[in-house]
Amino acid sequence: MFNSLSDRLTATFKNLRGKGRLTEADIDATVREIRRALLDADVAVPVVREFTVHIKERALGSEVSEALNPSQQIVKIVNEELVNILGGQTRRINMAKTGPTIIMLAGLQGAGKTTLAGKLAHWLKKQGHTPMLVASDLQRPNAVNQLKVVGERAGVPVYAPHPGVTSEFDVPTGDPVQVARDGVAEARAKLHDLVIVDTAGRLGVDAELMAQARNIRDAIEPNEVLFVIDAMIGQDAVNTANAFNEGVDFTGVVLSKLDGDARGGAALSVASVTGKPIMFASTGENVTDFEQFHPDRMASRILD
Ligand code: GDP
Repeated sequence: MFNSLSDRLTATFKNLRGKGRLTEADIDATVREIRRALLDADVAVPVVREFTVHIKERALGSEVSEALNPSQQIVKIVNEELVNILGGQTRRINMAKTGPTIIMLAGLQGAGKTTLAGKLAHWLKKQGHTPMLVASDLQRPNAVNQLKVVGERAGVPVYAPHPGVTSEFDVPTGDPVQVARDGVAEARAKLHDLVIVDTAGRLGVDAELMAQARNIRDAIEPNEVLFVIDAMIGQDAVNTANAFNEGVDFTGVVLSKLDGDARGGAALSVASVTGKPIMFASTGENVTDFEQFHPDRMASRILD
């Protein structure tokens, strides 16, 4: 992901190499190229607008450094503005002061929530935590079974009192809100220090899904509500993120499928559009294909 964006930006900067001093025309041309590269990568229009305005202002402004040549100067500005778009600082999990830290996952069906539940649990376990997973997605055929498999791979227990639907013709039984509540109670009773609650997603945003997610959130009062978004879905990412932000007021974003070859810019817009930080990235189907998201490292990777 981001290869083409990365190549385009690098080519733009290359044009500036060897120039002694940048004229306003040079800066305009560069900003125009950056704008095109971002739009072609699917970065949301308002984000591109703000980004390019900042770059132009700063490039024209008084930021003259003796140590950097004009091309390095622009790269530095673009880098810093990219870090800003991506949320600035690395945002760590907000851990509970007492009792288990409760993490709820939300997002569309197929976004990668269940897979992420395993990865996150595995990663937290390696750091000495004792996570438990809770199967509150009773809607998607096989979601409960999948979570059990994921839990086994990650070596963490799964609370799953209901089988959920097992085929698309099944009617869901069991109340996902109750499962979430009971799961958290179980984690507390068994002294787990962390509990991750998987919830149902639909193919598109719908009111019923959002109400269910909100009810789960209100029942378990999570420390974090992580919105999982498939980085491959392109421009829809921003609308979906806005809908979930309004619906469940999530606290952080997880970008999934960053290993794909889509343009990815829309996913990069999500933090800027919603004002919520990207906290993790999912980069494959294995339990270890997962990393904490560092805005500065991602910006450097894009500009590499
Ligand atoms: P959910 O409906 O949100 O729970 O989504 P799932 O966790 O079931 O994921 C949907 C599909 O995407 C599954 O086939 C996963 O194996 C796949 N998947 C999830 N995360 C990633 C990822 O980071 N990279 C790739 N390539 N595939 C992923």
